[in-house]
Amino acid sequence: MKRTKYILIVFFIFIFILGLYKPVPAEKTEYLMDTIITISAYGTGAKKATELAFSEIERIDGLLNAFDENSEISKINQNAPYGFYKTTPEVYELIKKAVYISEKTSGAFDITLLPISSLWQIGSESPKVPEANEIKNALFSVGYKNIIFDDESHSIKFAVSGMGIDLGGIAKGYASEKATNILKENGIKNAILDLGGNISVIGRQPLDLVSAVKSGSFYRPFNVGIQDPDGVRGSYKHVYTAESDCFIITSGSYERNFSKDGILYHHIIDPKTGYPALSGVKSATIITDDGTTGDALSTAAFVLGEDSKELILGLCNKVIYIK
Ligand code: AMP
Ligand code: MG
Repeated sequence: MKRTKYILIVFFIFIFILGLYKPVPAEKTEYLMDTIITISAYGTGAKKATELAFSEIERIDGLLNAFDENSEISKINQNAPYGFYKTTPEVYELIKKAVYISEKTSGAFDITLLPISSLWQIGSESPKVPEANEIKNALFSVGYKNIIFDDESHSIKFAVSGMGIDLGGIAKGYASEKATNILKENGIKNAILDLGGNISVIGRQPLDLVSAVKSGSFYRPFNVGIQDPDGVRGSYKHVYTAESDCFIITSGSYERNFSKDGILYHHIIDPKTGYPALSGVKSATIITDDGTTGDALSTAAFVLGEDSKELILGLCNKVIYIK
């Protein structure tokens, strides 16, 4: 009798301890690429892999940050107006990819918007509404077709004066893709990365014991919330259940904006007008296997609005517009 009681006590302690079991990810958050970046990775070696992924994001930020005059993109902007500038194969390929998306989206995505974004300065401490003639003049220097490529030497030249490249619409997607690859190369099977609206999912979310017993599985798909453009941060309009590895990338007018005289001006510019795009959507979300293309596409889908659905779907798995 005493023995049975003893066994029962040990049994319940055992169950209690198992019940406390919860898979804890290696989690790290840093402010990089002008946004908050969080990586949560599970499993052996997750801490080291997360550190390596952050180093990769820092490296890419160092290459593509247009506000750093020593970055590779700044060197292109400083030199390409005067003739061919030989860049690194990596940056060359990224710019080619960006231009490919411009071609596919009739120029709705255009990395040569720098002369226009420099006028608006949206996201800075002192954004302003430019004069109409400033925009008109700056538009002469905008146009992806005026980037001249030399594939042999991976060199780039600008055909028109006043041109400049801003990779803000694609850089985070590229970084998220590279960081995802680093995690995978380091044996990570379950992780979620959030680079300011660019989400990447690897595998599935490990569950605590109670949830595992309830659901009959030790894992469940990651659920990714899609921000309600009119709600407070963290309130979701949709939840996307990621059944397999993918990137879920959102561009929204709520991300960066300012108001003047009752008008909201946001950071996604229509290259045809030089003004914040007014396509009738408040956000566009792309679900894809290609994080770099997905980032450019989310910007293009926002600029083009719902009418672009068929075109965008030709280049990714799914698109969600929120009006
Ligand atoms: P995203 O949040 O990915 O849509 O990117 C927006 C950022 O990309 C802006 O902050 C600008 O730096 C840049 N951008 C704005 N409009 C465009 C556009 N039409 N095509 C390409 N890049 C853009
Ligand atoms: Mg984008």
